[in-house]
Amino acid sequence: MKTISDYCVRRLRDLYPAGVPGEVNGRYLNSLWTLGNYNYEGILDKHYSICKKAKEMRTPFFLRGSLSGSFVLYLIGGVFANPLPAHYYCEACGYFEYIKGYRFGVDAPKKTCPKCKWDLRRDGYSNYEEFISHRNSLESYNHKLEYLIPPESLNSEDENILLISSDLCGMLNEIQWVFGRYVFDTIPTGEWSKVDGKLLDRIYEVHSNSEDSVSIILNNYKPANFLDYAEMLSVMHSTFMDEDGESKSGYSEFFRLLDRYGDIAGSRERLFEWLIDYGLDSEDAYEVTRFIYMGKATRQKNDVKWLEMVSEFNFPTKLTEYAERCLYLWPRTHELEYVLANALIWLYGEKWEV
Ligand SMILES: [Zn+2]
Repeated sequence: MKTISDYCVRRLRDLYPAGVPGEVNGRYLNSLWTLGNYNYEGILDKHYSICKKAKEMRTPFFLRGSLSGSFVLYLIGGVFANPLPAHYYCEACGYFEYIKGYRFGVDAPKKTCPKCKWDLRRDGYSNYEEFISHRNSLESYNHKLEYLIPPESLNSEDENILLISSDLCGMLNEIQWVFGRYVFDTIPTGEWSKVDGKLLDRIYEVHSNSEDSVSIILNNYKPANFLDYAEMLSVMHSTFMDEDGESKSGYSEFFRLLDRYGDIAGSRERLFEWLIDYGLDSEDAYEVTRFIYMGKATRQKNDVKWLEMVSEFNFPTKLTEYAERCLYLWPRTHELEYVLANALIWLYGEKWEV
């Protein structure tokens, strides 16, 4: 545990070189406390060893699900997205500011430091602590780790290691083969300034020309920013029930859901945010979100607990109708890792003229 907290403190200093803001340190301590409070130090040890081993073996490692929202796991590695709320940070003088009106810092406008005029870093993807402090997420992660054995296929001698987070398979794996470089952890913070709308356009262009189902959606719908893109993928990977009680994939339901439930339809996190805006406190919002994303409002439509929730919080028809269609909703944190993996592939692809 001591090794891990020392490592995290060093990573915090690397990420926030002009001083770790109080808000950032507070979130770190809280995240560490949560894992300790549930006696999940074992998870940290395992995660730390896997990251270390994966790095040694130059093998991609990708953390699935909501747990990539943990600030401590982000610091240890194997996660792309900084889970803090969207924020600007000045690497020259340490200026820190939350970005109002944006969930993802990368979607906010570029800005210079009001104190020293340096280009501010736009960071943070607003992954909520409520989603990772839940025992269920931690237990399922612990379970998955038992089966995670890094493949030994990648063994580059190239010392020019690029520090990028990675997917278990797919294109990052290919990049490693093509360039003989190890793709892991996180990219130098300065590189993120290149992750912008232009890069997003390039991802859409490539994706919409591919053969998969994402291309069918992208040829008819263009996400406005990185958040929208992650939300689109969340809907596509989720499962819903149609009017006839048939289970349908988000791929086939995408446009219908968008049309009818626009501001609610999306990831678990979008539903959670909707409930917060509707007036629920974060604990209630999490409970209701979890009930709905597990498909309990659908399968047990007349279940007393669901009917109680509807009347206690006085939900509008739009919400109850949507909830009763949800069979399983994906976490945004998970899809976000894919989005950022794509961003990095094209960011580096451009540089290397893939
Ligand atoms: Zn500054």
